[in-house]
Amino acid sequence: MKRVISLWQDEQAEGLSELDLLVYRSRLLGADRAVCNIYGGNTSAKTIETDFRGRPVRTLWVKGSGSDLATIERKHFAALRLDEVEPLIEREVLSDEEMVDYLMHCYLHPNMPRPSIETLLHAFIPAPHVDHTHPDAIISLATSEDGEQHVRRLFGERVLWVPYIQPGFQLGKRVGTAVRANPKLQAVVLGKHGLVTWGETAKACYENTIHTIQQAEEYIAERASGRQVFGMVKTPALDTTRRRQVWSEILPLLRGAVCARRRQVLCLDESEAVLDFVGREQAKEVAMRGAACPDHLVHTKLYPLFIEWDGADVNALKARLREEISHYQQRYQAYFEAHRKGNEPMMDPAPRIILIPGLGLVATGRDAFLASVARDLYHRAIAVMYGATALDRFVALTPAEAFGVEYWPLELYKLTLRPPERELAGRVAVITGGASGIGRATARRLAQEGAHVVILDIDAAGAQTVAEEIITQQGEQRALAVPCDVRNEEQVIEAFRQAVLAYGGVDIVVNNAGIALATPITETTLTDWNRLYEVLVHGYFLVAREAFRVWQAQGIGGSLIMITSKNALAAGKDAAAYSSAKAAEAHLARCLAEEGGAIGVRVNCVAPDAVLQGSRIWEAGWREERARAYGIPPDGLEEYYRQRTTLKVNIYPEDVAEAVLFFASDRSAKTTGATLTVDGGVPAAYVR
Ligand code: ZN
Repeated sequence: MKRVISLWQDEQAEGLSELDLLVYRSRLLGADRAVCNIYGGNTSAKTIETDFRGRPVRTLWVKGSGSDLATIERKHFAALRLDEVEPLIEREVLSDEEMVDYLMHCYLHPNMPRPSIETLLHAFIPAPHVDHTHPDAIISLATSEDGEQHVRRLFGERVLWVPYIQPGFQLGKRVGTAVRANPKLQAVVLGKHGLVTWGETAKACYENTIHTIQQAEEYIAERASGRQVFGMVKTPALDTTRRRQVWSEILPLLRGAVCARRRQVLCLDESEAVLDFVGREQAKEVAMRGAACPDHLVHTKLYPLFIEWDGADVNALKARLREEISHYQQRYQAYFEAHRKGNEPMMDPAPRIILIPGLGLVATGRDAFLASVARDLYHRAIAVMYGATALDRFVALTPAEAFGVEYWPLELYKLTLRPPERELAGRVAVITGGASGIGRATARRLAQEGAHVVILDIDAAGAQTVAEEIITQQGEQRALAVPCDVRNEEQVIEAFRQAVLAYGGVDIVVNNAGIALATPITETTLTDWNRLYEVLVHGYFLVAREAFRVWQAQGIGGSLIMITSKNALAAGKDAAAYSSAKAAEAHLARCLAEEGGAIGVRVNCVAPDAVLQGSRIWEAGWREERARAYGIPPDGLEEYYRQRTTLKVNIYPEDVAEAVLFFASDRSAKTTGATLTVDGGVPAAYVR
């Protein structure tokens, strides 16, 4: 097991202000997720600052709610007037609302982030620097049955044990009072929660945190040494090829079942630690005791869904999946009903973590990032359960304790800090020919609205460039490039498999990859004819078929959008091969609209005309060919096309992407089998 080490470097810390030292220290803590979870933990420093009138003020700098220590900056800390905050320790009771309201009156400057919900813990401890973290090894102690005795045996008088109390005023008061009364104390272990440490300097505080964790790690390692902590291996991990095969079959089923209330994205995890854990004899029993710490719970829920499987019969597994998810949701509903205080709305009852022996773990989330946060926290949970089980027995939060945190208004407030949900949140879109032109504009547009986009293109490097650009703008895991020649059946099947393995399924498919050729019929070779039909007709068919297969398994509908052409509707002079292939796509769409209706799949066409900008189809002589057909010079084509339209406009890829977005989204929920033209108005192609 990897051990925690000190990352402090005096050269880097030299000359930093107290606030910058706090930033530096916080980032070091956040850099190791075995010390501090994403968004979890908080840090503080007490300094003297100058207020707006030039007066010196004792100040508490404390992490703002909702930021992550690993990437924290100065602006993420709130400065509070310590002389105003400290007297709160005299109170007997203080509600969360009173606490939040009170702290809002203590800001040193206006417009600061809301201080951490654990602010009072920092304020009441008299030391200049305080760290509060949720380290794996400490939570192992904190969730072991005899945790208090272990802490005493390991740390002696140096560390205090405080049994679980929900974060807030009472926990802060309890810890602050004990630390003030006992100057020998150097740290506090919070039962089923985490660690509090402090120091006279930023470095001393950080080293205290790291050293305390290291002691706990050694203590656990001694007891785990030579033992099969979770029992023997019951279901060995399947080999990678077989595993991927099974995952690609079951992920759409799982996704369909968890998306009943709202769309989610799945995140697969087949790491060694996870595969080892899920295959062990005691894994289910230990995992089903519940979450170790409030910090894990808000992302993983109290319980994972553990689906038993012997690693052999895939059909038997598939047959049970929906029922397993539905039972999980019923149990969640019962937990909610048993603990609800008033008329708070129930959160999505779908599992966040699904464990299957032999296969690994799937995390669910509103987007790929949130799903990966849940996945990462479950790695922490496995490490914690391992340590606690090595010590004696893992003890989780009780359902009542869990509910208190999950539905805690101050915890819910953090959710409101997230950007508002976009129209295609939780959806996955596959776009063929996504490396350029209409495909690229569509990928960008759908990603802007919150979709995760899978960019298929025969030009692998071009697809990668578009994916990277979208990731830069929209965030990690928002786009995936898959090299794919739509004429190749194997490649199309594999591309959909990649999409399923990356996100769990597919919601939107845009059939766009195309080529063009314009020659009089007498000059059209059979090779040319076949090439057009292979890309435009066979390609659209293969992609549509794989989309339908995924949608059938998911059972939550889907939207297929065919980029056709004005030429699908109006006769294209000297372009019979291209135009008839485009007409075939349009009729394929109508047929598939009929087939898809029963499973909620909509199929619609967008028919553009003369999109010159950024499109590859103009490279292979099409411009010259069209110009020749119209009897004009090639560089006069834009003007010719503009004048040809009713609105006297040119058509750009972004115009077409807008129409695709309409069909991709629920705004067109009741439209199927339709064609929307984006051609500036061409009377010959008016749909009738
Ligand atoms: Zn905490």
